[in-house]
Amino acid sequence: MKAYQVEEPGKPLVCNEVETPNPQGKEVLVKTISCGVCHSDVHIHEGAFNLGGGNKLELPLERPYTLGHEVFGEVIACGDDASVEIGSKFVVYPWIGCGECELCKKGDEHLCNLAQNIGVQMPGGFGDHILVPDQKYLHEAGDIEPHLAGSYACSGLTAYSALKKGLPYSSDNKAIILGVGGVGMMGLQIAKSAFNVNPIVIDVDDEKLEIALNNGASKAFNSTKEESLMEILEHTEGGAMTLIDFVGSELSVGFGTNLLAKGGKYIIVGLYGGELKMPLPLIPIMERTIQGSYVGSPGDMEELMELVRANKIDPIPVEKRSASEAYQTLLDLKDGKIIGRAALMHD
Ligand SMILES: [Zn+2]
Ligand SMILES: [Zn+2]
Repeated sequence: MKAYQVEEPGKPLVCNEVETPNPQGKEVLVKTISCGVCHSDVHIHEGAFNLGGGNKLELPLERPYTLGHEVFGEVIACGDDASVEIGSKFVVYPWIGCGECELCKKGDEHLCNLAQNIGVQMPGGFGDHILVPDQKYLHEAGDIEPHLAGSYACSGLTAYSALKKGLPYSSDNKAIILGVGGVGMMGLQIAKSAFNVNPIVIDVDDEKLEIALNNGASKAFNSTKEESLMEILEHTEGGAMTLIDFVGSELSVGFGTNLLAKGGKYIIVGLYGGELKMPLPLIPIMERTIQGSYVGSPGDMEELMELVRANKIDPIPVEKRSASEAYQTLLDLKDGKIIGRAALMHD
């Protein structure tokens, strides 16, 4: 099999011929049809997350490693203890826990400290085959197009899980989505269909805001414009009850926390990085909640895929690219040049 791998963090990917895995026991071998490219792939490619103040969280990954956690593919072989029809196609849930610890047992496998995630610790969809440890991680995608389907495993799941944490949604002008890249766009679509709210969107890019408005955002603001802050406060009648920050940078949090009403929730999803700087008394006085949200649980994935199969979620724009353009796609994503999502297609 062929895989576009990271040999040196931050350097161009290398196309390597590697041995195709032979599934054992409960394992399932999936031939990758498409794999969405996520902003966290950019960080994993660089081998570290930015913690602010010049500090980095290094990812201890064995090289070479293969990115890609938004996989849609076809089952081509199973171990003896798996029973999946060969030729059937699935979205792969990539957040694989140990299955034994407290977190895994209560259904939060995605938070497991011993996680072996596909496309992070385990080889992912930048390779033309992936090994899935158990068929329980496979989800049917109904008649959703292959290049879109994989994106529900991360951007869709991440958006869904974050929106759940932001409940309840009383009205359109009390919910804000900050950052309408791939995950934020997905957040907008899921907010409309699963949570019955048309949020306000904020971004630094007018083109993305325009697309968000065409996709049902109730109002759009460009945060680089000086008047935006006051206009948003006016439009929200004193601030939002839920703000979901799909950027997660010092700039976005610095701007976004000013937009929260008393008792409001600030949910940080984006992993852009930096440090949180905030006047502490405002947290108790304003009764603010600041919460993180990381991908989503297997249970969230099941709920989401049910909505997907029922065609309840409007598609986000997804650009198809050849898998051989994997490295360029990471660069384009880093430069903010991708509208919605880019998906790598294997031939
Ligand atoms: Zn992702
Ligand atoms: Zn665990």
